[in-house]
Amino acid sequence: MDCVFCKIINKEIPSEIVYEDDNFVAFKDVNPKAPVHFLLVPKKHILSIDHVEIKDKDLMGELILITQKIAREKKLEGYKLVINVGRVGGQIIDHLHLHILSGKPTELP
Ligand code: AMP
Ligand code: ZN
Repeated sequence: MDCVFCKIINKEIPSEIVYEDDNFVAFKDVNPKAPVHFLLVPKKHILSIDHVEIKDKDLMGELILITQKIAREKKLEGYKLVINVGRVGGQIIDHLHLHILSGKPTELP
């Protein structure tokens, strides 16, 4: 599949991974919009929030808990979460991802 995030998940292209478990990977955004800018990505190739199904509800709950875990591990004092949905919503990569931003964002991703 020609998906850049699937390639990162499969270690076919390099990335700076900050967290990984059976269902998720988080890595540094290559073009950071804040001093800390991670992307948290489910390993399952879901196109966007608009494509989440009822069977994904546990995975989506986990997404939030893992965000909290990463924030604690990285000692983030506060953070901003962004999910872009669809082209008009600013989504460029069609694999669901949560932006975790900390420090003063220069702009929203
Ligand atoms: P979005 O606009 O929400 O789809 O965000 C996609 C994000 O992925 C952007 O902030 C890009 O900088 C980031 N990005 C694209 N390719 C890579 C990559 N190979 N490694 C890390 N981040 C990437
Ligand atoms: Zn993918």
